[in-house]
Amino acid sequence: MSPIPSSLMGPTRFVCLVVLGLILSGCQLANDASKSAPKAIFIIVDGIPADVLEQAQTPSINELVTNGGYTRSYVGGEVSGATQSPTVSAVGYNSLLTGTWANKHNVYDNVIENPNYQYWDIFRIAKYHNSSLKTALFSTWLENRTRLVGDGLSEAGGYKLDYYFDGFELDLDRFPHDEDRNFIRDIDDLVSNEAAGYIREYAPDLSWVYLEYTDDVGHLFGDGPKLMNSVTLMDSYVGRIWNSVKSRQVTHNEDWLFIVTTDHGRDFATGKNHGGQSERERTTWIATNSKNLNSRFSSSPAVVDILPSIANHLQLSIPDDIFSQLDGQSFID
Ligand SMILES: [Zn+2]
Repeated sequence: MSPIPSSLMGPTRFVCLVVLGLILSGCQLANDASKSAPKAIFIIVDGIPADVLEQAQTPSINELVTNGGYTRSYVGGEVSGATQSPTVSAVGYNSLLTGTWANKHNVYDNVIENPNYQYWDIFRIAKYHNSSLKTALFSTWLENRTRLVGDGLSEAGGYKLDYYFDGFELDLDRFPHDEDRNFIRDIDDLVSNEAAGYIREYAPDLSWVYLEYTDDVGHLFGDGPKLMNSVTLMDSYVGRIWNSVKSRQVTHNEDWLFIVTTDHGRDFATGKNHGGQSERERTTWIATNSKNLNSRFSSSPAVVDILPSIANHLQLSIPDDIFSQLDGQSFID
């Protein structure tokens, strides 16, 4: 800042000082206003191999990553190592939720018999950091809340979700089950609509959205146009939620981290199966709006890197004994 010239005397100098004062207070206001509230949402869309996502029409995800990033990533831990984890849905979700591989979180299948809640999930970490942070889950599968997050279970940290919208697959009157799993498509539609509406209005600090239909199409029909079309449909559901976040960023002073990923790939031969350690089953992908991606993002991050990245964005303090057990590192600076 240059000093006021000594030649400026009397009323002129007074006016200059007042103007300078106004400019400085304006700067201060701008500084305060720039401290926007960090928010985060992660969306798991089930069972979409990276090569399928990259070939399908996905205008919403394309827009999301325009100013952020897209990368291939992996699940499954270290092949033949202690951390090797089946490329199975609940195993992948829980590796994201806890930032650890199956040898720690102890979920090896979709039965989720005995999850090890000593490895805290991201919602528990958020609530530990600040119990007033708002959390939400929108899911086409009930067990994500009741078994993996273990919401309400004392051994899993008690109640951690301020809002949830799930369990519709059990409502046979409203969603009668059909062989082609169109009821799951319709529940994804409902769940993504609810997520978009709720986020637009209430903007929870941390949200998880889970959509299932793409995996069902993969199991039923394998690789081909039906799987591609289901990915494009999923993209339109993600687009609703992304539009809500964009609208919040225009109307509110919020800094959103938006992550879309999948929980596993599919087999090379048919695309119908998964669970093994083949390259295509292990290869996943991460799409995000983040502008603060570091070199880890571009060098094939793991699903376990997502938790530390979200924690970094939300500036969560993680207890030392939980932090030291994490298997991943942040891909966000
Ligand atoms: Zn899955």
